[in-house]
Amino acid sequence: MLTRLPDSARIAVKTAPDTTEILRFPIPAIGPAEGILRVEACGVGGAEPEHYRSTRWQPIAMGHQVIGTVVALGPLARAMWKVEEGERIALQEYFPCKSCAWCLRGEYRFCPDADFFGGRNPRRTGLLDYTQAPHLVGGFAEYMHLPWNSVIHRIPQDLPASLGTLAVGLGNGVQWATMDMQTGPGKTVLILGPGQQGLGCVLASREAGASTIILAGMTRDLPRLQLAPELGADHVINVETHDLVDEVMRVTRGAGVDVVVDTTGDPGAANLQQYLKLAKMGAWLWVNCTDSGVPVQVMKEKYLTVRSGRGRTYAATEEALRIICSGKYPLEKMCTHTFGLADVHKAIKATGGKEVQGAIHAVVDPWLA
Ligand SMILES: [Zn+2]
Repeated sequence: MLTRLPDSARIAVKTAPDTTEILRFPIPAIGPAEGILRVEACGVGGAEPEHYRSTRWQPIAMGHQVIGTVVALGPLARAMWKVEEGERIALQEYFPCKSCAWCLRGEYRFCPDADFFGGRNPRRTGLLDYTQAPHLVGGFAEYMHLPWNSVIHRIPQDLPASLGTLAVGLGNGVQWATMDMQTGPGKTVLILGPGQQGLGCVLASREAGASTIILAGMTRDLPRLQLAPELGADHVINVETHDLVDEVMRVTRGAGVDVVVDTTGDPGAANLQQYLKLAKMGAWLWVNCTDSGVPVQVMKEKYLTVRSGRGRTYAATEEALRIICSGKYPLEKMCTHTFGLADVHKAIKATGGKEVQGAIHAVVDPWLA
């Protein structure tokens, strides 16, 4: 152990819908395959405002975009994770089984242990019950327990922690826009929703060589839309003041798009009929809408690929970290708000556009006074 750890640590937890409390728990003794992380920063994810409101997820320790320093490490953990005490890591939210077919492919997002579809209680940071030992199981905390099945990424010593917390959102962008939808050189891509994941899709598409990147959002998203050109967007559209189909057809000179990625997460906002109109022959559509049916006839006529997705592979997060560390983009402009542990409630609300306005990416620094 590098330095003597304190006996206990503070953690902000969700005790009930829209309610946060700060509790103090002992820092647990670790087994040979476990570790302790000193949290430097934890970003607020785009889905967390929904998890915070929900009655399904309680009591839980929220926070899953975690950057920290490994400060205690069992000998088996050292061998498995290939890190040393004092090294900095980004932690994936998944605590997978590491032996199922999905895990063996690096697809921890689909591991039955870590999945929350089908009414499961997933093993993943941000949704774990803090009332059970080891208690320090969420990212909005001073220290976190690292179980044997932690999935970690080593990060450079000089990477600002707040930037590192973008790895999850940008990793989703890499996964969805490029790995899932094959956006690549020469492609025209339309991205709906300028949150962390939508902006991540913009960055990933730019890095993948897309020729034209169009980002659409709403009036409340204006700060995000204004930043988007610096992250690689060629055109931005406010769908409340402009017609989406008309604008996309105008900037593509009537050609339409090769790829649509809908990151809005809002079935009401998603409009499959518009995407079908905008799709070129052979286009790929990544959709989030739940009630539109399967448009088999148009899929056939236009030879479309329609799919959805979730989460990200290990490789997508590594690529996101590479983009972040490249310094090519002013990502610090995405990190608009930093909160202390006492203001985790505000940080989550700000991410959902409530109580605090103008947040693109909110970060919790547990050491902020
Ligand atoms: Zn598994």
